[in-house]
Amino acid sequence: MYKTYKNIIAWDSSMSKALPCDIVTEGKVIKNILPPNTANRNVVFNGKGTTAVIPGFSNAHGHAAMTLLRGVAEELPLMEWLEKKIWPLENKLTPELVRAGADLAIMEMLATGTTSFADMYFFMDQVAEAALDAQIRCCLSRGIVNDNDGSKLKENLKLASDFHGRNELLTVCLGPHAPYTVSIQSMKNIARVAKETNLGVQLHWLETSTEWDLSGLRNKTTPEDYLIETGMIEVPSLLLSHGVWIKDTETSFYNKDNITIVHNPKSNMKLGSGFAPLTELLANKVSVALGTDGAASNNKLDIWEEIRFAALIHKGNKQDSTTVTASEVLKMATINGAKAMGFKNTGLIKEGYNADMILIDLDQAHYVGWDLVNLPNFIVYAGSSKDIKKTIVAGNILYDKGVFKTIDRNKTLKRAIKARESLINK
Ligand SMILES: [Zn+2]
Repeated sequence: MYKTYKNIIAWDSSMSKALPCDIVTEGKVIKNILPPNTANRNVVFNGKGTTAVIPGFSNAHGHAAMTLLRGVAEELPLMEWLEKKIWPLENKLTPELVRAGADLAIMEMLATGTTSFADMYFFMDQVAEAALDAQIRCCLSRGIVNDNDGSKLKENLKLASDFHGRNELLTVCLGPHAPYTVSIQSMKNIARVAKETNLGVQLHWLETSTEWDLSGLRNKTTPEDYLIETGMIEVPSLLLSHGVWIKDTETSFYNKDNITIVHNPKSNMKLGSGFAPLTELLANKVSVALGTDGAASNNKLDIWEEIRFAALIHKGNKQDSTTVTASEVLKMATINGAKAMGFKNTGLIKEGYNADMILIDLDQAHYVGWDLVNLPNFIVYAGSSKDIKKTIVAGNILYDKGVFKTIDRNKTLKRAIKARESLINK
């Protein structure tokens, strides 16, 4: 089934200049990119030359169901935030509550342009069902903490056998929480299993200045040697979330085909964790993606805000307006994240690529002055997710000017309100 998006302005991170065109999708993929106003098969949208199309965003680190915990613990340092507020509430979670929170998260992500997301949490079969019902792409892992009996790893592997490769929208990887919550022995075991089963791994990495001490590893090894010793360095794909405390001098270590650092600027700022060495990582050609982290530490799942923050905060921090360009950040938020999550041919506006895209309304006051060269700068520095007209995943329009095509908005909100009340009052 063909769909034509007529007279639109395409841009992706491989282009030096945006391209006026018609885009024809066939089923799940971009079939043709043609000169503007030349395609006529089933025109579903006419952009009239004032609508941009860019690849949908990849939110490469988060905990979707934490939408139920939004606002319950504000303005605390990470460890206090986790131990006193978040973990006690998470102990009360049930499959039904996780499903309600995941639906809510997916709604927010679709409205703000996310077409694929990574998730690490519990009751992940519920998140998988929520994503499949909504038809959004995702990469899921069971968060593994203190797993001395191996039962959580087992659950993670069950998730993989139930969902990985069953549907092209969904990949599964292993989710050891962090070096300070998982023993070195468990970490070695998880790395071995990841290699044997050809699964990726996502892991919180050097988020705060104190966690390496908490892990008891300070006088034993360095973070980089730890990745080598545990075998994590050899897993098929390794998403290291945060990386705030990677030393500038060690950034080149992370330039490896299987490693992606996931930058979460807003969560890092809100929890007072610090600034990741993004300038140095990019200078060393390390693959970096973007994430929101959970809604309890952000408190939004709007990746467009992360894009804006990532492009701004390092300029201020380094007193260097040339560092971290708009195009670089958009690349992080699109193809880099999609690749790290295991989605091939995703994250560019290119024939044969998955039709994961967002349409952006340029016919607004804050876009006056855009042209084919400066478009990414307008999107990053002047735009916001309010400009999104449509969010499309695998050729399906899932969000259309405020309307969700695969989610019952009112039912989802009602269920989430009830779920949150029951969780807080439990
Ligand atoms: Zn996290």
